[in-house]
Amino acid sequence: MLPYYGPLNQLEAAFVEALEQMTVIDGHEHLPLEKDRLNQNLDAFSLFSHYCQWDLWSAGMDWDTRVRVLQGDEDLAWKWKEFAPYYDQMKHTCYARAAHIALEHFYGEKELTADNVEAVTERIRKNSTEGLYDRVLRQECKIETTLNCDSPLTERQDGLLTPLVRHPGDVWDWKTVARDFAGPNGEEPENLDDVLASCKRRAEMAKELGLPAIKFMPLYYHGYTEAEARECFAQMKANPEKRFPRSSPLTEYAMEKAMEYTHEAGLVCAVHTGYWNDYKELSPENLVPIIRKNWDMKIDVFHLGYPYVREAIMLGKVWPNVKLNMCWTYLISQKFAMEALDEMLEMLPVNKIFGFGGDYYVVEKVFGHLVMARETIAKVLARKVSEGAFSFDRGLQIAERILYSNSKEFYNL
Ligand SMILES: [Zn+2]
Repeated sequence: MLPYYGPLNQLEAAFVEALEQMTVIDGHEHLPLEKDRLNQNLDAFSLFSHYCQWDLWSAGMDWDTRVRVLQGDEDLAWKWKEFAPYYDQMKHTCYARAAHIALEHFYGEKELTADNVEAVTERIRKNSTEGLYDRVLRQECKIETTLNCDSPLTERQDGLLTPLVRHPGDVWDWKTVARDFAGPNGEEPENLDDVLASCKRRAEMAKELGLPAIKFMPLYYHGYTEAEARECFAQMKANPEKRFPRSSPLTEYAMEKAMEYTHEAGLVCAVHTGYWNDYKELSPENLVPIIRKNWDMKIDVFHLGYPYVREAIMLGKVWPNVKLNMCWTYLISQKFAMEALDEMLEMLPVNKIFGFGGDYYVVEKVFGHLVMARETIAKVLARKVSEGAFSFDRGLQIAERILYSNSKEFYNL
């Protein structure tokens, strides 16, 4: 058994050992291609980029300094001086825990210190060689493939990356409309029909490339009509300087149609829910009217809608076409993920749950997150077994399904 888990009782340890042997489908990442990662010249602070940066920022780190420390090529001593006071405030959070597990496993240090920043940087650079993704994802994590956002749609990284297409999520003025709903040759859309045609092309392109899903960001749902969407398009076109709300008649109508086109193409609608920017707008409850109209549309609800966890679980409880994806959850809070999984096992058939998605762009941290996921899943399963809810063998069967077969089947991987 790996040495990074917290204290475990015998039953929890037995589950962890079994989980470590299981093949995993990773339900969500943001990984760049390996060759792009190898060109990045990362340093020790890179391990604290991505989600850790938001804890550093909320602890008080200056916005621009954050970028220079985590992504710039400034001197390491200067970086440490800027980083240390805020690191000291957040190094106990779940975001930091995944970074620390990655730091210890790959680079031999439990925490970053003034004394090891240079050595860790050297080790990261030495490890950044061809085959890194195969070593981390396939060998260390037993990940068969990851549903990956933001990498080129035509590249699969030897099967390790399964790219997802994104539906435009940030459209609020003419510039973003013209950019995100452009014609096949980049021409500006003339009317709502052009916008819808662009959404349809996106779904067809995904299907042609053999990609399994399109990713959406929810909007406040108003039930706007086609006429209102047309009027909104005209207003945006006539007032190119004006900023409209992210949730507008145009964006709502286009998103709903795009989800229908995705479904018609036989693909999954993967939907981010909760936590991010104005998280109220991203609440899972905004999907209810769309789900009620589309009982057979395949929908994967990402992140359990944190903080609207029970709203998300309800979607999976009620509708056969809705699945719940625990990507990002153990990083947000293992406690929340543990309680949510426990509650889901009481409420849902097991085929409704996808148990892991790292949600990272730094590949080593996927390993850290997976350790946390295994620990959490093992604790929940052990608790259920000790409460008499089901047997150890049934617990193993549940683990295999939520880590592998459920998403393999749903996404046709
Ligand atoms: Zn993500």
